[in-house]
Amino acid sequence: MSRFPDVMKLRILCYPDPRLRDHAGDLKDTGSLVKEITLRMAELMGEAGGVGLAATQVGWPYRFVVLNTTGEPGKIEAYLNPEIIAREGKVVAEEGCLSLPGLWAKVRRAERVRVRATRADGEVVEFDAEGLAARAWQHEIDHLEGGLFVDRVGAAAKILLRPRLHSLEKEYKLLLPSDEAKKKK
Ligand SMILES: [Zn+2]
Repeated sequence: MSRFPDVMKLRILCYPDPRLRDHAGDLKDTGSLVKEITLRMAELMGEAGGVGLAATQVGWPYRFVVLNTTGEPGKIEAYLNPEIIAREGKVVAEEGCLSLPGLWAKVRRAERVRVRATRADGEVVEFDAEGLAARAWQHEIDHLEGGLFVDRVGAAAKILLRPRLHSLEKEYKLLLPSDEAKKKK
């Protein structure tokens, strides 16, 4: 995908879209494109009722995330090049994903994380996150590395998820232009 996407055309990609497996590259600039993408991603995340959205989920393969872990409308945080630099504790809790609608599973995550990231104004910050915010950070950073939460679910739990994964795979195929349609062109 081009470095400069048509921002209004960005949509949340759904499993099994192969772009969800992209490894995001470092984001170097903090100019107007980042502002536009922040607004568009915040809009998509708000409409879908999510707490976090990674740029790879909208097909923009750069290390960039927006979060709203407080649940307050409009309280959007946006970060470039985030990384988790420390993890502590373990906790299992139910998780879902805007790219896997209708699917939830228990996932083991660190209880607290320390994050280093660049804010949209260019300042590098470090902070601790716990609870929902810690889970959201780990989930979004997985996305930037091509990971989905279902990759972290055990084999037994995965069997339970299979019917829903299959129906998402079917829906995805229906949305793709068929080979027949391509030949006719
Ligand atoms: Zn997700």
